[in-house]
Amino acid sequence: MADPSGPVWIGRFQTSTRIDDLTPAFSSAVSDFVGALRAGGAGIRIAATLRPPERAYLMHYAWRVGREQMDAADVPAMAGVDIEWVHRDRRGRADATASRSAALGMVGLYGIVYRPALSSRHTQGRAIDMTISNYSGKTFSDAEGTPTRVRTAAELHELGGSFGVIKLASDPPHWSDDGR
Ligand SMILES: [Zn+2]
Repeated sequence: MADPSGPVWIGRFQTSTRIDDLTPAFSSAVSDFVGALRAGGAGIRIAATLRPPERAYLMHYAWRVGREQMDAADVPAMAGVDIEWVHRDRRGRADATASRSAALGMVGLYGIVYRPALSSRHTQGRAIDMTISNYSGKTFSDAEGTPTRVRTAAELHELGGSFGVIKLASDPPHWSDDGR
């Protein structure tokens, strides 16, 4: 029996905050970068690593139905996600207003601001969202082990780049293996 779209889905298929859940190559690069930052006295808070494709699907279609007037009946099924996007009235007729309202509720709970991609560096295990604090004026080892003094965000990004952890400038917490 499918669960109707709504708040129950928000806690399912949660986005990981574990570095180990990234692809082996990127996981190793991030571990080394984060290790160097911690060793040098910076603070790191990880908000997201791997986003399950199921969550990307739920977020994407919640947005399409809730915000882009997509007909809930047109949402394609995804294996392993037993969700009913179409809500019905007491007579069993499809209720477009209720379907849209439920999807919109999910958009709000997910905290979505732009249409989420079905596939992204996060669903591929190739991105991390993290906030790095207390780094300015400190010295960190780069990927070659060379002590490097970091003052600005640009210098921090350069340091990450030496490990293969590339900053996407337009998305403050987002780093990936190719800057996308
Ligand atoms: Zn990100």
